[in-house]
Amino acid sequence: MIEIDGSKGEGGGQVVRNACALALVTGTPFRITNVRGGREKPGLMRQHVTAIEAACAIGGAECEGLTVGASAVTFRPGPVAPGEYHFAVGTAGSTGLVLQTVLMPLAISNAPSRLVLEGGTHNMLAPPFDFIARSFLPIIDRMGPTVTARLVRPGFYPRGGGRIEVDITPAPLRSIDCLDRGAPLTRSALAMFAAIPPGVADREIATAKKLLADWSEEAFAVRELPESQGPGNILLLEAAFEQVTEVVSGFGKLGVSAERVAQTAAARMAGYLASDAFAGPYLADQLLLPFALAGGGSFTTVKPSQHSLTAAAVIELFLEKRCVFTQQPSGTHLVEVR
Ligand code: ATP
Repeated sequence: MIEIDGSKGEGGGQVVRNACALALVTGTPFRITNVRGGREKPGLMRQHVTAIEAACAIGGAECEGLTVGASAVTFRPGPVAPGEYHFAVGTAGSTGLVLQTVLMPLAISNAPSRLVLEGGTHNMLAPPFDFIARSFLPIIDRMGPTVTARLVRPGFYPRGGGRIEVDITPAPLRSIDCLDRGAPLTRSALAMFAAIPPGVADREIATAKKLLADWSEEAFAVRELPESQGPGNILLLEAAFEQVTEVVSGFGKLGVSAERVAQTAAARMAGYLASDAFAGPYLADQLLLPFALAGGGSFTTVKPSQHSLTAAAVIELFLEKRCVFTQQPSGTHLVEVR
């Protein structure tokens, strides 16, 4: 039984999700205490409970103490059973984070799976659908498994109601090296909104245009979604290179101006474009699990985030793998999984 102190490092939900995935793949049970101990409101939230329930469902696992607010749970995995699953996060909780929990165990299992996930698809502090589909999954595909994700209906906080469908054709993971992003291909900026004044999205685009002055006029677009899918708003900035696509997001929120949303997203994109690293900070922490399960590999990233360091520490508890971060002369960091 592996003991995890959930307050260590980043001390958030990612510790729980990675632990579930690793437990399912290795067959090793764990007990976590101080769940989300690094957060203002510690304990499991609805979306974490759904993620663990999903892990139990695909992995015949038993979990003691699984309730909203719980600060300790014990997770005992069974055999992973690929198949058709439907998971609904009862609130606008992130579908992407539920996917993060179950994807890798299913992607290296012995038969295909189809997942229907309902809840939020474009949540703050979680990977938006577009990031999963265009930044994260293409790399998993390169490692062996084939995973396709469709956005059936967007879901924003607080209403939720989004739906994504994911098809997984498993394959053994091969280790890859992702050191260069390759030549630039396309750039795009999309302001999506539903049931809020359209001027908000126009202002986001106007600010983004000013800040990303060398992006062409055609790169910028606004998309209005049906009223029933709102209220909601996200600005997605995307830079595609030959080897990787970075998707950064600015989340519209009451009390935060459209200009501020665009400034935050544009600053993140500028930070990525100014470096020559393969992975942005979010992609980096999410690649550690598949790379570790592949048995090795390497990639470059801008700067290791607390999420990355914490993911590395959780991986080391379950696998005889180390994630080594080394700063390069160019300022980027090389991440090697050994
Ligand atoms: P909490 O922080 O409240 O515990 P949480 O369960 O959402 O909640 P975190 O531990 O913060 O958990 O993990 C968030 C995950 O979402 C990380 O893997 C991070 O890379 C990813 N993420 C957050 N924001 C983005 C974003 N804008 N784009 C892509 N990925 C993101």
